[in-house]
Amino acid sequence: MVLVDTPRRDCTECDGDGGTAHDYGDPETGEYAGTDWEPCNCWNQARRWVLLPLPHLPRRRQRQCTGYSDEPSF
Ligand SMILES: [Zn+2]
Repeated sequence: MVLVDTPRRDCTECDGDGGTAHDYGDPETGEYAGTDWEPCNCWNQARRWVLLPLPHLPRRRQRQCTGYSDEPSF
């Protein structure tokens, strides 16, 4: 199998367009804010691999014990 960097014309997901456009709105105003272009898997697999997030590395969560308190002390 050869990965070709062109959308498949017979793709059932994107209908040959190579991706799907999603309109999204501003979460605050609810108005149209732009269009998200989601590339389809049928041709963008190579890039998708690059975009895959790195394996989860164990994060060291350090608690910040500053000793300060938000409550006012009198
Ligand atoms: Zn497709």
